Amino acid sequence: MCGIVGYIGHRDAFPIIIEGLKRLEYRGYDSAGIALFDGTDLKVTKTKGKVVDLEDRIKNEITTNGTLGIGHTRWATHGVPNDVNAHPHYSNSGNLVIIHNGIIENYESLKKELSKRGYTFKSDTDTEVLINLIEDVKIKENVKLGKAVQVALNQVVGAYSIAVFDKNKPDEIVIARLGSPLAVGIGENEFFIASDASPFLEYTKNAIYLEDEEMAIIRANKEIKIRKIKDDSLVDPYVQELQMNLEQIEKGGYDHFMLKEIFEQPNAIKDTYRGRMLVKEGIIKMAGVDDNIEKFLNANRVIIVACGTSWHAGLVAEYIFEDLARIPVEVEYASEFRYRNPVITNKDVVIAISQSGETADTLAAIKLAKANGAFVFGVCNVVGSSIARETHAGAYTHAGPEIGVASTKAFTTQITLLTLIALKLAKVKGEISNTNYRYHLQELELIPEKVQKALESDEHIKAVASIYKDARNCLYLGRGYNFPVALEGALKLKEISYIHAEGYPAAEMKHGPIALIDENMPIVVIATKKGHYEKVVSNIEEIKARQGKIIGIVTEGDTNVKKLADHVIEVPETLESLSPLLTTIPLQLLSYHIAVMLGKNVDQPRNLAKSVTVE
Ligand code: GLU
Repeated sequence: MCGIVGYIGHRDAFPIIIEGLKRLEYRGYDSAGIALFDGTDLKVTKTKGKVVDLEDRIKNEITTNGTLGIGHTRWATHGVPNDVNAHPHYSNSGNLVIIHNGIIENYESLKKELSKRGYTFKSDTDTEVLINLIEDVKIKENVKLGKAVQVALNQVVGAYSIAVFDKNKPDEIVIARLGSPLAVGIGENEFFIASDASPFLEYTKNAIYLEDEEMAIIRANKEIKIRKIKDDSLVDPYVQELQMNLEQIEKGGYDHFMLKEIFEQPNAIKDTYRGRMLVKEGIIKMAGVDDNIEKFLNANRVIIVACGTSWHAGLVAEYIFEDLARIPVEVEYASEFRYRNPVITNKDVVIAISQSGETADTLAAIKLAKANGAFVFGVCNVVGSSIARETHAGAYTHAGPEIGVASTKAFTTQITLLTLIALKLAKVKGEISNTNYRYHLQELELIPEKVQKALESDEHIKAVASIYKDARNCLYLGRGYNFPVALEGALKLKEISYIHAEGYPAAEMKHGPIALIDENMPIVVIATKKGHYEKVVSNIEEIKARQGKIIGIVTEGDTNVKKLADHVIEVPETLESLSPLLTTIPLQLLSYHIAVMLGKNVDQPRNLAKSVTVE
């Protein structure tokens, strides 16, 4: 994971890099570091902890008007998070310095080789091996830095985005990518380097996204030269205009990004269906689906691959695809799918879901599916991301930047998008009556205002959170469309409050988890009116009989569950197939408030990072 920032130009590099690192901190926050060239010498400062810790340390150490620098915020893969393992890393001579996002898989054999040749290593990282390999090539072959990077990378197995510079040649930065994202902002006689465009939004709207297996040499006051790492051929830079703006990546008065993003859901959902769903005309148009409609219609089955919250969105999609479009669906963890020799044919459609579009396991699953002839469709949020580029076709969720590490609006917008696809296919296949189809469109159009209504329970949810904040375990139960929501609710609580939580299909409770229930166990039960309501009420009775504490997520005006549950949280009524878009809201807020009350870092929970670019 990790965030990378770099600057070369005429401005003071330090504030650009520090502010940039803060914006990229969602990608990793085990340690942070910066290398600055102050006109005469290279200074590296790094520390375990967050970017603010680095800022504190550096304020006392460095006064510089240096105009070249690189910075890193780490999500450790090799070596514990400490000062020594923090990036940037020097080469043995102290001339070269590197920041790296990714994993060098063959670092051990390279390290052995380099050790034999006299190189020593201060850190446990794979990154320090890479910078010494680059140095070794540079000295041995007597080549310039760019060439040395290229030759070294051709010996490397793994994934990387890197930025390297040489203190003896402080007018250029060499960058390269394979499997981890890297963007270059193009200013007037200046360049910005970053894992995503957020660090340079206020300076330029023009950016180049490096493709896999590309490297670039960037010189201040000059141009950027992009080459293929393998064959050295020159690549024409493709400059894109950025659509993102600064406001979207700021907290906008909320205490946390997560809360802001929860409250953004009415608009985010609207943005997902805007222009695609024409309710009056009864039309759903999505170029990625329309242009490939035969692929979908002739598919033997749809395989959905994803990880984490996106996998839960995939599970919801399984219900809606099978229910409405009558297309068989399998939902796979990308990390399992890619390693278990799955049966894939050219009659399969694979849908890959990933907020960041950079999830390494999902990307690998896509490559596997393509190699076996499947048609692969991507559902991503980040425009221009690796998955968006790697898939045959796709659709963006248009949720806007999601910065809180625990996913919220990504989940509901993914479900919205997948619902549109399912409805479209159901209609084209003739599996849904015209009336039912129209009814779905009308109801989907109303979802944003119903989400808004669900958000109004915030204060009440906060009060419920205060009662259960000290629980050590929690169960989440749901049936049908709301079973994946139960999984997602439990995941949210685990992620940000570190309370152990499990999601289960409500009926499965009696096959095991019921043994856990006693008067100390809070159990969140999704018991909305439509969809197995009576059965869920029976499950609630079973919990009640064992003194479990029940928090019911119910449809407005419900009276039955109210009589049985310790607390109820209401959501507006909608179709069963759309109910996950509403029932998930109180679960997000419940986790959020519990985590805040426990004093946890909601936006940056321990051990996690937003964009999982390692396998
Ligand atoms: N593998 C490198 C490390 O452990 C980089 C990890 C990252 O992407 O943050 O330091």
